Amino acid sequence: MDKTAYIALGSNLGCKRDNIARAIQLIAALPGVKIIKSSSLYETEPWGKTDQDNFLNQVIAVETSLQPAELLRELQNIEIKMGRQRKEKWGPRIIDLDILLYGNEVMDDPHLTIPHPHLRQRLFVLVPLAEIGADLQLPEDGATVEEVLSSVLVREGNRGIERI
Ligand code: AMP
Repeated sequence: MDKTAYIALGSNLGCKRDNIARAIQLIAALPGVKIIKSSSLYETEPWGKTDQDNFLNQVIAVETSLQPAELLRELQNIEIKMGRQRKEKWGPRIIDLDILLYGNEVMDDPHLTIPHPHLRQRLFVLVPLAEIGADLQLPEDGATVEEVLSSVLVREGNRGIERI
């Protein structure tokens, strides 16, 4: 049976809007993957390594018959096809594709952690995810995306992210 997965897209090199749009086209063309929801685009300040250009971020929901590892492999193939080079951690990138959630799956394999480890901390993931899935319950403890987002906003305020 198909599962619903949430995928985060990010770009901060070249024409970011085109990069995100192209990645979405390539995801939509994958066999066994159907896009069912898309958030708005958000402009966000870089996290971790801050001396680089702002990012554009978006989150989509897909229904997929692919297993998590297969989905990750397809997303990594798209990153490579689009010319992404893995140079420095948190450095500039044409495209970054992350699996945020995959059904109610919880996994911590060497190459794949689900839910994504950044999901509970970073506004550039939580804000677009909440736009298309505020009531989603996170598999570890049943907290909703909305609740997790509210607690991050109380802690950090709504900084460095703007819907465009
Ligand atoms: P990044 O440079 O942020 O794209 O990280 C890429 C690495 O994160 C890859 O080697 C993946 O194997 C690993 N990874 C672990 N969990 C995930 C996930 N949920 N989605 C995407 N990549 C993941």
